[in-house]
Amino acid sequence: MVRPESADEVSKYAMRTLRAADALGKLPTPMDDLLAAAKIGNLQIDEEAKENFSARLIGAAKNEFNLMWERIRGIADLRKRIIYVDENTTLPRILFAKGHELGHEVLSWHYLDPGRFDDEKSLTEEAEEIFDMEANFFSAEVIFQGGNFTRLVRDYNVGFDSIFHLADMHGASRHATAWRYVEEQDESVALVIYWPSRFNSEILRRGKVVASPNFLLNFGDIDLPEQLDPGHSWMAAQASNLVFGDMISLTCGNVAFRFEWEAWWNGYGLLVMLRRKPKLHFVRDLVDKVTIASSS
Ligand SMILES: [Zn+2]
Repeated sequence: MVRPESADEVSKYAMRTLRAADALGKLPTPMDDLLAAAKIGNLQIDEEAKENFSARLIGAAKNEFNLMWERIRGIADLRKRIIYVDENTTLPRILFAKGHELGHEVLSWHYLDPGRFDDEKSLTEEAEEIFDMEANFFSAEVIFQGGNFTRLVRDYNVGFDSIFHLADMHGASRHATAWRYVEEQDESVALVIYWPSRFNSEILRRGKVVASPNFLLNFGDIDLPEQLDPGHSWMAAQASNLVFGDMISLTCGNVAFRFEWEAWWNGYGLLVMLRRKPKLHFVRDLVDKVTIASSS
């Protein structure tokens, strides 16, 4: 999730929308209540909706709309205050798409265009991209309920099990939950995704990295592998639905540090979480070992 420059402003709108629906603390976020409270109509995308929308567009916009027809996941009709969402997909995607279109409707500065349509990436104008980034951020804010998620995260152990649990709790995808979860950690935690190489699917190439504020502060110059070959220990998790974990040494600057790692294959890419154990835990581990040694 890329945070737009307007993140603070978007957060305020998200919180206001949650409060208006009396939805704060209700999980998963009752998105239909939010729509009702904001007086936004909510319809499914079907052929008729698409044709009606297409008929209102002219010139290049009409051509573009018709070309991306199959990939459209949601439409926000700002003039009629109705959103249309493709419900022929997974529940987390439906929830996210509804939140996204609701974002276009309630973020007041999005009212430049009479209508808006969304697909994966064919909107090219800079303003459209910014609006979409803002709508994505709005959706994540209403789904994770801003600071509520931050407080919740502190009650859970660091690991993918917690992420999976929190994802179910919020009706969000595990992938989206993972990014948000890492950003909110007090400890030094980072998440890295590795994607199969286009040229050799046995090799994974490094993609996006997200880190907690403490990780950035202490290990911002960590030397992460650019690519993972089949023999790398993290690769054990590929093509499995289990979470694998162990310890690994990675260098930051010229110094090697030990990190706990967990790896999980999400079906498309390998998510690797790195965690520098807080010092307190090292002390406790040592005490445990001493206790065991003295009692044997
Ligand atoms: Zn959009």
